[in-house]
Amino acid sequence: MNFDALPLDPLLAQAATACGYERLTQVQAKVIPSALAGRDLMVCAQTGTGKTAAFSFVLLQRLLSQPRQQGQLSALVLTPTRELAIQVAESIARYSQFTQLTSLAVYGGANINPQRKALARGVDILVATPGRLFDLLGQHGLSLEAVEQLIVDEADRMLDMGFVKDIERTKRLLAHTHSTMLFSATFTPEVKALATKMLDEPEWINV
Ligand code: AMP
Repeated sequence: MNFDALPLDPLLAQAATACGYERLTQVQAKVIPSALAGRDLMVCAQTGTGKTAAFSFVLLQRLLSQPRQQGQLSALVLTPTRELAIQVAESIARYSQFTQLTSLAVYGGANINPQRKALARGVDILVATPGRLFDLLGQHGLSLEAVEQLIVDEADRMLDMGFVKDIERTKRLLAHTHSTMLFSATFTPEVKALATKMLDEPEWINV
């Protein structure tokens, strides 16, 4: 399946072309159509399968296709580590390069002030590690109440690192109606339990 077979905004299709992508990877061919149709998803996929582009194109397309206020935080990607947060934010920046959408990575081990100031200027998509997210929520007035899309990347590693309560707490702070996608390399009983709690009639995708 090619990118031009997807119902994507031309600005996103242009970015896929600029990245040299023609054919969808297997995970993209399964995830993008289902998620755009509004389903919650539990996706088992390893790093290297193109999972980042799969969820990024979904969240960008959904932001572009609805009337919304520019710079209002509307999509959140949770990652276990700062390295992954930076990498995911770089990918989202490439895929959104022809749009007006803005994204930002926030993570621990770095000065909070530049992150706080960047957030205050308005960001559409936030990629965050849980600890820093809660620092920003607690002391710095960040609100997630307009967030309509939640992605949990590498959910198995998030659980190994003890972030389960943070993930559940984050979900309770989002817009009342929102969609959720969980990505995990392994499908342990703990991941399954999280999926059962977090997802609404999900489609299960295994690649
Ligand atoms: P990920 O699994 O998200 O870590 O992605 C692995 C690599 O695949 C990244 O370097 C992407 O740039 C690349 N990639 C993602 N989607 C495609 C695609 N449809 N065609 C070619 N390369 C891709």
